[in-house]
Amino acid sequence: MIIQSSDAPTVHETDICIVGSGITAALMAAHLAENTKQRITVVEAGKPTTPFAQRTQARERYLAYGESPWKQDHLDDQNAYGTTWGFSPSMNVGGLAMHWGGVSPRYSPEDFRTKSMFGVGTDWPFTYDDLDPFYQEAEERMGVAGEQGPVALDPRGKPYPLPALPVNYNLAQLQQWATKQEIATWSTPSAKLSVARDGRAQCQRCDTCYPVCPTGAKYSPDFTWDALEAAKRITLLTEHLVRRLDADPKTGRITRATGNRTDASGAAFEVRAKTFVLAAGFVWSPHLLLLSRSDAFPNGLANRSGLVGKYLAGHRNINAYLRLPLELYPGMNVQHSLVSKQFMRPGKQSRYLRHDLRIWESSVGREPRLRGDDGAMLFGDALLKDWQGRAKGATARVRAYYDVLPDIDSKLVLNDARKNRFGDPMPQVSFKDAPESAALKEWQEEELRNLFRRMAKAGGGEILRMENSNNDLGQEHPAGGCRMGTDPMHSVVNGEGRAHDHENLWVAGAPSQPSASCCNGTLTFVAVGLRTAAAIARG
Ligand SMILES: Cc1cc2nc3c(=O)[nH]c(=O)nc-3n(C[C@H](O)[C@H](O)[C@H](O)COP(=O)(O)OP(=O)(O)OC[C@H]3O[C@@H](n4cnc5c(N)ncnc54)[C@H](O)[C@@H]3O)c2cc1C
Ligand code: SF4
Repeated sequence: MIIQSSDAPTVHETDICIVGSGITAALMAAHLAENTKQRITVVEAGKPTTPFAQRTQARERYLAYGESPWKQDHLDDQNAYGTTWGFSPSMNVGGLAMHWGGVSPRYSPEDFRTKSMFGVGTDWPFTYDDLDPFYQEAEERMGVAGEQGPVALDPRGKPYPLPALPVNYNLAQLQQWATKQEIATWSTPSAKLSVARDGRAQCQRCDTCYPVCPTGAKYSPDFTWDALEAAKRITLLTEHLVRRLDADPKTGRITRATGNRTDASGAAFEVRAKTFVLAAGFVWSPHLLLLSRSDAFPNGLANRSGLVGKYLAGHRNINAYLRLPLELYPGMNVQHSLVSKQFMRPGKQSRYLRHDLRIWESSVGREPRLRGDDGAMLFGDALLKDWQGRAKGATARVRAYYDVLPDIDSKLVLNDARKNRFGDPMPQVSFKDAPESAALKEWQEEELRNLFRRMAKAGGGEILRMENSNNDLGQEHPAGGCRMGTDPMHSVVNGEGRAHDHENLWVAGAPSQPSASCCNGTLTFVAVGLRTAAAIARG
């Protein structure tokens, strides 16, 4: 069904047009608003979702009925196919980070130089030190609470903007257990306020960070959009789906973004600007470039190298639950954890394996249950006694994200069999490991299982359950699709995010990354986006 308005499109004139209103776009817009006088228009396909004032109620309904706290957070007919996880389903103002957990570790310096240091993957066109100021800016804008780990494991140019979220009694016990095994751990950096700020509360440890924070302690992009709109520094067009970018056939300059309203009208619009920023996330950014094919650019825009949609990146994990002879009291802030970067900085090694390590308290194996070990129903005092017995002791959850080197055929293509209401083919996504990763996968996963077995044994405990993330058809914290690099034949954008082929087109954040490290990626997506924003502001 094609809903195409026959009326002339509504035309919006601006200086900088940002496509997408996710977390990368929000923090880039804040940077641009402070560092340029240019007019900024942000174009978002979805609607605003649950406002801050309604989040307490949304949390209550989530806890009572399992109801999603996020209203109208997707477009029914705008879907990526081929993967079950992390495929940008949230098309709303603020994007996926309206739902995120707020965990915000930095990559390690090794991530930017895996080729030089370990002979695998690709070096980025800049170093960790080059990104450090933008990491800092991202942390300050979101309000990241953190504790610096040992400098050799966790270098940074300046201290965290906010004191760390407390290592509570449970985590302190687990920290001692890890220390005895010579594993250095510290409070996981999180975009959750440890000190009230800017109308957002201090974290109350109420433990529903994912999916919804009722207090505003956890950063979400709507805070930035609301502030920028109140200061009249941006124009935010909601329910506007950009379907094409038009490029001048001779100069390659982008002249306009065109599309349709996603409301019932389906009305056509166009945005004319001097600068275009594609901040539509790792799926929709390459998708829009591929959709924007024309006679002059038959393979889509920015695609001289043929790499648009290629080298999708991400990581996988091994996760384990360990019973330990400690006394923990679950429920003191289950969503907060310890982190270690010890294994992200392994030094010289004969076979490649780098991973992060996170440790949480857990109630697995300690919950109340209705049947005993023999399968018989438990009632009254017997039920209580069973629970009291099993609640004694401690369960730790440990998880290691290990990095996966992306293959050129880890890719997103247009799927002509799946179209949205306007007749545009939807993205088909498939992840593939580079041969060096595929060859090591089994060994890498067994090494991680062995680490967890050793950790359990050293603490006098046992493994309750172990799992890997293989059931995900995708990978976590997905990135790539418009990789950056210095050579236009082997990359889509340069080291600052500008398309090699189009002088006024920039691709921001996740899609431009050549690899996705082995920890949560969003802080890095934003830092990379802020580096791009600084280049745009310099002109
Ligand atoms: C449940 C959950 C928990 C998570 N927890 C964490 C965590 O703790 N730590 C972490 O680091 N990461 C986490 N993530 C991942 C994190 O949310 C994402 O990495 C991040 O939000 C991606 O931001 P983005 O700016 O790249 O893009 P997106 O959030 O994908 O935003 C892109 C926006 O662009 C809009 N758009 C796309 N195409 C168009 C178009 N053609 N026209 C107009 N608008 C368009 C979309 O509607 C969307 O709003 C989590 C994700 C989920 C789902
Ligand atoms: S613990 Fe509660 S207040 Fe703190 S960030 Fe999570 S949801 Fe928000």
